[in-house]
Amino acid sequence: MTNIAENIQTIRGRMAAAARQAGREPAEIMLVGASKMNDAAACQAAIAAGIDALGENRVQEMTAKLAEHAYDGAPLHFIGHLQRNKVRQVVGTVSLIHSVGSLELLAEIDRQAEKRGIVQDILLEVNIGGEESKSGFDPEEVYAAAAEARNYAHVRVLGLMTIPPVEQTPHGNLPYFVKIHRLYVDISRNLYDNTFKYLSMGMSDDFEDAIAAGATIVRVGSAIFGRRSYQL
Ligand SMILES: *Cc1c(COP(=O)(O)O)cnc(C)c1O
Repeated sequence: MTNIAENIQTIRGRMAAAARQAGREPAEIMLVGASKMNDAAACQAAIAAGIDALGENRVQEMTAKLAEHAYDGAPLHFIGHLQRNKVRQVVGTVSLIHSVGSLELLAEIDRQAEKRGIVQDILLEVNIGGEESKSGFDPEEVYAAAAEARNYAHVRVLGLMTIPPVEQTPHGNLPYFVKIHRLYVDISRNLYDNTFKYLSMGMSDDFEDAIAAGATIVRVGSAIFGRRSYQL
């Protein structure tokens, strides 16, 4: 049995240490539990232990767990690859969509949000390693995309998100985190009147480096819930 509450407490301690070391306030960094492949009871255990939000990857899994009240008591985020035909099920259901990696997806989120009469909070996903297998804007195109996104009245861009390449050496992703933080500050300052709040980066193996580089949200799965039987 994984002790979810104990794991969360340990991670909070490590997050706080990393924040202080970087001269930052621990309270300014959110812990999102990446709860894919974990059941409603595990989600509820994380919420009872004070997780800031839960993040899901798959619409079908999320919908099933919503019916089981898995997320009652905490904000729900969508962090996985989102297909355009599933947008309708996500808009208005989650408080933040981390993974908006194309203008087509952005336009569809805007369309569905308009239908529902809401403004959907989102992050732009950046494919910081330029990997074929990953979605997201290339680092060179995200500035233009963020400028374009201002034209959509029913989405509110609150920051950036990234999933760097699988780390090959200890601290190997730190340069990617530093690079995306620079983009984040630049876009917020020049295009969004410094209103960006969320830089979502860092997972079980590298959240301390992400915090050192300026993350305001870390998304942690296996270090909270234990190893998944397979990856999504
Ligand atoms: C699974 C997942 C995480 C968490 O990964 P761990 O290595 O298990 O901490 C974070 N972000 C996204 C988008 C994920 O799919």
